[in-house]
Amino acid sequence: MRRKIVILGATGSIGKSTLDLVERSPERFEVVAVTAATNSEALAEIARRTGAKLAVVVDESRGGDLRTRLGTDCSVASGEEALIEAATMDADLVIAAIVGCAGLRPVMAAVEAGRIVALANKEALVTAGNLMTEAAERHGATLLPVDSEHNAIFQCLAGSRREDVSRLILTASGGPFRTTAEAGMREATPAQAIAHPNWSMGAKISVDSATLMNKGLELIEASYLFGVPSKRIDVLIHPQSVVHSLVEFVDGSVLAQLGSPDMRVPIAYAMAWPERIETPAQRLDLAAIANLDFADPDTGRFPALRLARDALEAGGSAPIVLNAANEVAVASFLAGAIRFTDIASVVERALAGDGDPAPSSIGEVMEIDRNTRERVRDMMKAVCT
Ligand code: NDP
Repeated sequence: MRRKIVILGATGSIGKSTLDLVERSPERFEVVAVTAATNSEALAEIARRTGAKLAVVVDESRGGDLRTRLGTDCSVASGEEALIEAATMDADLVIAAIVGCAGLRPVMAAVEAGRIVALANKEALVTAGNLMTEAAERHGATLLPVDSEHNAIFQCLAGSRREDVSRLILTASGGPFRTTAEAGMREATPAQAIAHPNWSMGAKISVDSATLMNKGLELIEASYLFGVPSKRIDVLIHPQSVVHSLVEFVDGSVLAQLGSPDMRVPIAYAMAWPERIETPAQRLDLAAIANLDFADPDTGRFPALRLARDALEAGGSAPIVLNAANEVAVASFLAGAIRFTDIASVVERALAGDGDPAPSSIGEVMEIDRNTRERVRDMMKAVCT
């Protein structure tokens, strides 16, 4: 029987890679719902191509356009609530590929509906943390990591007892400014920041990779997902992006997952789990690669990584504040309003005024997120030079 799939964020980078895999294995997968924020044209094309039953565009002013493009072949809905309808549709798998905290409510809805959720949308787990992992346990949902690092760890953990794990080691390419001096980073343009050396991704995660905030968010994600505290998760710079992450066990054994940098590999693993399917990813030729390099991260030039670790250790509302401040700062940087190096300064300032307890509901998470965004917008002018 074909596996029914909902794709939240179908028009994005992860969404497109998922669709590529679906189209390579039509006998295994059937897309039942697709969503986008504003891009009704691309969404209509995807809905038509896949034969999806429901297409959702969040921007209500695009709903009419989507309806005109799709006619009566597919149900069309718009607005944020419609995302919940898509997330909870009768399906075997929900691909969570919305960018940012905007994905939190639909992901939680899928979790509360007991679905298998292939989670690319790391910001949802960073902000909801234990609320999400506890809800998954309560509702019998399964969270499958799509992020290549967490997917690597998930693969390395298969068949192991969690108490035998001593350390998780997340690898990071170091991004486009790995060897750039601080003065050069201060002048970095959005085009330079999104030009990732190894991966082709959406704009927001590309900037996060350049600041190393992406690795910071992944550190928090790994801690919640695998139940491992900050002090037992290391970050290792590995410019080739061949070793996707590692797990060290109590006996000193270290397992790693390797592969060429192609997101279709971790996405395929989540889509077919617990089986595997073929992907077009380039096969690894280690002899041709010859050398794999590793180094400690430089938290002096990349303070975002330190800020994320501090937020994880502080707990409470800190990871939500970190994420919201970062989302606002990255959007401002991409709009040309602040410098690249201001991103971490903005996040640091936002965290300095924070010390609230952990939220007890998703409503509270969303409120902290909203308040932080307002606070950050207000203070941004004062911080940025
Ligand atoms: P993209 O920016 O390429 O795509 C984002 C998707 O989310 C689009 O479909 C977009 O719709 C939709 N979207 C944007 N804003 C909203 C909103 N407010 N409400 C609902 N939908 C929205 O992002 P990526 O595919 O690069 O990343 C998606 C997630 O996956 C992120 O959390 C990222 O960190 C994570 N990830 C991505 C990787 C990658 O290789 N790209 C690797 C690992 C993790 P529209 O097109 O209409 O704007």
